[in-house]
Amino acid sequence: MALVCRNGRGDTLTLEGRVVDPTEGIDECLAITIEKGVIVAIAPSGASATVIAPAFVDPHVHLRTPGREDEETIATGTAAAAAGGYCAILAMPNTEPVVDTAAVLGSLVERARQEALVPTGFLAAISRGQRGEQLTEMAELAEAGAAGFTDDGRPVVSAGLMRRALQYAAVAARPLALHEEDPTLSRDGQMHEGAVAAELGLAGWPSVAEAAMVERDIGLAAYEHQALHIMHVSALESVRAIQTAQARGVDVSAEVTPHHLCLTDDAVRSLDANTKMNPPLRSEEHRRALVEALADGTIACVATDHAPHARQEKDAPFEEAPFGVTGLETAFAALNTNLVAPGVVPLETVLERMSAGPARVFGLRVPRIAVGERANLVVLDLDATWTVDEETFRSRSANSWLLGARVRGKVLRTIADGREVYAA
Ligand SMILES: [Zn+2]
Ligand SMILES: [Zn+2]
Repeated sequence: MALVCRNGRGDTLTLEGRVVDPTEGIDECLAITIEKGVIVAIAPSGASATVIAPAFVDPHVHLRTPGREDEETIATGTAAAAAGGYCAILAMPNTEPVVDTAAVLGSLVERARQEALVPTGFLAAISRGQRGEQLTEMAELAEAGAAGFTDDGRPVVSAGLMRRALQYAAVAARPLALHEEDPTLSRDGQMHEGAVAAELGLAGWPSVAEAAMVERDIGLAAYEHQALHIMHVSALESVRAIQTAQARGVDVSAEVTPHHLCLTDDAVRSLDANTKMNPPLRSEEHRRALVEALADGTIACVATDHAPHARQEKDAPFEEAPFGVTGLETAFAALNTNLVAPGVVPLETVLERMSAGPARVFGLRVPRIAVGERANLVVLDLDATWTVDEETFRSRSANSWLLGARVRGKVLRTIADGREVYAA
C-alpha cells in the first residue's frame, strides 16, 4: 500500500549532528550525505548541537477534506505535518462525504498527488456513512488504496458488525483501527467522570465506557484470530486489557496521544474548549498508566489525533464546543517537555514510538538511517525553548491545548521521502 504526495526530485545535502536511530541501534555524532533524496554516506562527525532522527509517522490525522476545507486542507494539514517533523501521515475518513466508496477515496488520492507536501495515506470507513449498519466494500477500497479501515469519530456499536469487519479486513489485508466508546455509557459526557467533573457540574464520560469496548473487541479479535489496533487509549483499564491480551498472544496494538500523556482532567478546570477531547483527559493514575505503557511498549505508537476545528466552533461555551485539538506541530515539543526533559521516558523511546512503532503497525516502510535508504529525517534542537503561538501554525486551525505555553524542543528541519519539506 503506497502513500502519495506531490511529485518532486530528491534533494542533495549533508546533515551533521547526534544521530539517534533506535531501529538501527545508532546514537553517535555523524554526518549524513544525501544525494537526490537517498542516503549515500554516513561518516563520523564532531557536530553534536542537534539531534537527527528518523522522521515521524502519524497514524491518526483529521485532514477535514473533503467537506470542511475551511478547517484544514490536504495542503495545510501536510504542511503542518512537515513542520512537526513528520514524513508520513494517515488521514481519517470521517469527512463530508465519508470516505466509504472507491470513488471518494480515488478523488482524495488524486488530490493528495497534487497537494500533499508529505506522503499521505487514507483510511476508509468500516461502515457505510459510518452509520454502523452495513460494511463498506473493503476489498474494493483496499484495491483503490485504502491504508486501513476505521469509523473513527464513532465506535462500531454492533458486535456482529465488528466481527464481520474483522473477517473482511483480514481478507482485504488492511489494519482495522478502532475508536473505543460504548455510547450507552459515555452518553452526553463532556469530560472524564471523576472528582473534577463533579466539582464543575459537567456530565462524566467514564473510563469504563472505553475499557468495556476494548474488552469486547479484544474478545472478538481473539476469537477470529485477527489483528486489531486500538486508537487513542485514555484509560488505565484499557491498558490492562491490552497487556493481558498481548501476553496471551492476541495481535492487538495501540496508540496514545500527546495530550493524554501530558495532561489530566485538572486542565479542564480552565473551561478552555481546547481541553475538550474524545476520549477525554483523565485523572493522574490513568495518565501515569499511559506513560508506563508507552515506555514498556504495550502502546507502540504516539498518534496526534490532530483534529482541527473552526475558531467560531471552538470559541463556544465548553458544553457546546466540539471535541478535539490540533497536534501535528506540537507533538514532539509536548513529549520532549513533559516526558524526555524531566527524565520520565528516554529520548530514544519517544523517537521510536513516533516513527518505527506506527510504521510497523500500519505496514508502512519504517524510516531508517542507513546507506541506500531514502532520506526520511527530522533535525531537532532538544534545548530550544519557544512559545506556542497560533501565528506560526501551518495548520488552518489553531485549537491547540498548548497555545501560549512555553515548550522545550524544536523541529529544525524535516526531510520526507528525500525532499526537504520544512526548515525553521
Ligand atoms: Zn476517535
Ligand atoms: Zn480521531
